[in-house]
Amino acid sequence: MQYIAPLAKLIEQFRRLPGIGPKTAVRLAYHVLAMEKDQAKAFAEAIIEAKDKIGYCSVCFNLTDCDPCRICRSEERDGSLICVVEEPRDIAAMERTREYRGFYHVLHGSLSPLDGVGPDDLRLKELLERMRDGKVVEVIMATNPDVEGEATAMYVARLLKPLGIKVTRIGHGLPVGGDLEYADEVTLSKALENRREM
Ligand SMILES: [Zn+2]
Repeated sequence: MQYIAPLAKLIEQFRRLPGIGPKTAVRLAYHVLAMEKDQAKAFAEAIIEAKDKIGYCSVCFNLTDCDPCRICRSEERDGSLICVVEEPRDIAAMERTREYRGFYHVLHGSLSPLDGVGPDDLRLKELLERMRDGKVVEVIMATNPDVEGEATAMYVARLLKPLGIKVTRIGHGLPVGGDLEYADEVTLSKALENRREM
């Protein structure tokens, strides 16, 4: 079916979103057309505002609307601890446990040779840079409990141990192959508590 050009364009944009098939894209586009004009405008503006105002923290690479981010600015946190995660959304999962009071570092992915993701594609240089002032005592590897996450944790451990940094791995009790962000607070708290030295 041929859609009138502006509608076709809208459908095409929805199709680019993850998990949206052709039928859903059409349904969403028609839904937008049926919206009040103010509502549609607010929707479009929210997208633009989020893109304009949110960027990466220059210290931990979490998403933030101020730089350094609120976590990196905090004076109540324990500066001897850095928890390394794959994605910004994993920080939210760790924060939900209310157990962890250190800082974070987001790698933005995990090592995956098959997908062409190597060490240079992750924020590893920046992590090493953070070890320089000698304040960090322990780095907790909270990458996902899957093949890539484990490989990434091992790689980071090999990088940091020669610097005299204690590297630990969470994972006890986390479902293998699972995603950190979907782990419930209790499981994640336990995994954090039972972290083992690498
Ligand atoms: Zn930060």
